[in-house]
Amino acid sequence: MIIKTIEFIQSVDHWKKCPDLPYPEYAFIGRSNVGKSSLVNMLANRKSLAKTSSRPGKTQTINHFLVNSKWYLVDLPGYGYATISKTMREMWVRMIEDYLINRENLQLVFVLIDARHEAQDNDISFINNLGELGLPYALIFTKIDKISKNKLTENVNKFLGKLKETWEELPPYFMTSAVEATGRKEILDYIESINERYNG
Ligand code: GDP
Repeated sequence: MIIKTIEFIQSVDHWKKCPDLPYPEYAFIGRSNVGKSSLVNMLANRKSLAKTSSRPGKTQTINHFLVNSKWYLVDLPGYGYATISKTMREMWVRMIEDYLINRENLQLVFVLIDARHEAQDNDISFINNLGELGLPYALIFTKIDKISKNKLTENVNKFLGKLKETWEELPPYFMTSAVEATGRKEILDYIESINERYNG
């Protein structure tokens, strides 16, 4: 897929305020600092479409971008800030769960995982929640330029092994580097293949 146009639509704090047009939608989420903003910018081929390294305490919003006047890329606020207050964490859970459960045109959730680290409990529990909700998802391992190929294979296998403890079927997964634009084509082509089957 070639990205011809990408426009920021809006940031909202409730799924009911999301855009009305029923284009197929793809959400990106992960632990804070996983490289989500960098990945969104890499996919869009823009320097600062999504704000990198946003700090905790900042308003948590659901951010819609319209790509090629055809599908929505949604940048969701990250989880796992060590210092976030309980109230904010609860607000995050409510906002995200409401969005995931109710947003009918949502096709797939991309869950970002830092390829350098072993499976973290909050990643696994977020994924298990998606599975329980019956939502299709794919994994994106980020920052692969920062580790060796062997270590990458080891970490990915460990992560998938952990999922296998609970789920029979494993999700599709992608390896990415925002620095080297690795995985860009694969992710965009995957989105395209789902768009082609979409008749919402
Ligand atoms: P976010 O909090 O998930 O949006 O993460 P950011 O996109 O702000 O990235 C967090 C940090 O990781 C920043 O310092 C980025 O420059 C760095 N980073 C993100 N992606 C990559 C990558 O693919 N390779 C490398 N080497 N650094 C990355």
